[in-house]
Amino acid sequence: MLLLCLAGCNPKDMNSVTAQASGQETQEQENQEKPSGSLNLHYLDVGQGNAVLAESQGHYMLIDGGARKASSFVVSYLEKQGVKELDYLLISHFDEDHLAGAIGALHKFPVKQLITPDYETDSSIYQSYAEVVQEKQYQAIHPKVGDEFAFGTATFRVISPVAYGHEDENQDSVGIILQNGENEFFIGGDIGLESEKEILNAGTDIQADVMLMNHHGSHVSDEFLHAVNPDYAVISCGAGNSYGHPRQDTAKLLEEEQIPLFRTDKQGTIDISSNGQDITFAQKPCNDYTPGSRGGNSQQEEAAGSMENAGPEDCDYVLNAHTKKIHLLECSSVKTMDEDNKEYYKGDKQALLDNGYTECGNCNP
Ligand SMILES: [Zn+2]
Ligand SMILES: [Zn+2]
Repeated sequence: MLLLCLAGCNPKDMNSVTAQASGQETQEQENQEKPSGSLNLHYLDVGQGNAVLAESQGHYMLIDGGARKASSFVVSYLEKQGVKELDYLLISHFDEDHLAGAIGALHKFPVKQLITPDYETDSSIYQSYAEVVQEKQYQAIHPKVGDEFAFGTATFRVISPVAYGHEDENQDSVGIILQNGENEFFIGGDIGLESEKEILNAGTDIQADVMLMNHHGSHVSDEFLHAVNPDYAVISCGAGNSYGHPRQDTAKLLEEEQIPLFRTDKQGTIDISSNGQDITFAQKPCNDYTPGSRGGNSQQEEAAGSMENAGPEDCDYVLNAHTKKIHLLECSSVKTMDEDNKEYYKGDKQALLDNGYTECGNCNP
């Protein structure tokens, strides 16, 4: 397999850059014939959750829709992309962070084929989903491993779940590999170690060029990562999420394997294109292998929200953990603050005030 990173062949609104990974097999572009049409993938920044919009030859597929609070963003993003109808809406599983935003899309766009796993749950979000499906008289299909679907110049094939009935519904996620010519994209929902093992035991070919890391960068086994053997990885997770995504061992493994990494929590929406032979990226990989941290450093921080994980680039406030003062990033006292006491905070100021922080009288945050 040959991966090329070319500049300048991305859709109109993208500011294309060449992203070349060290150690990547590359080759000069020589007016090659494009073997097929393009497949464009948008890994939407939906905070903690997943939503991927795929487009090929004017056909659209939405894979998960993010959480409830991402719903209007997802709908307006699709509208901006010119989506009038969805050829496929694939809901990997019925957890809120995948399903809720998809309900907005179900309301807004006609869906030709709804694809879901073969189970039901009693959550209220599932009830709302079931109501829309009934109202629209859609018939969801529950694919089997190996099923293949046509999608523009691309196809996608189902790789999971191998079996149903897991106690953890994440393991019942419908996972697929999207293929456009020689380029393959792995999207496995929230599968974890249990489902990974079943997939490996089933002997399915899961090799892919770009891997959306399972379950927001939670568990992945060495064995599974090696079986996918991706040249690039994408993690879709929320900035400062309280789940500790991506996990430390997963982030470390990716770093050790020197797999270039894109992250929605650090970079926003990630745009990747394939022309059947070459894969191009609208942004460089961030290669930020910093793991998420579970909860916070203290009870108060956990209550206050996403204190950990924000950095100088994306924080709303800078806190002094010692004096319990809230500052703006540009406040002069931030420059002289002891690093040990300095915390970058992204989130609501009220949550901080509720937790005993006070505003700096100098910068008036
Ligand atoms: Zn999830
Ligand atoms: Zn899940």
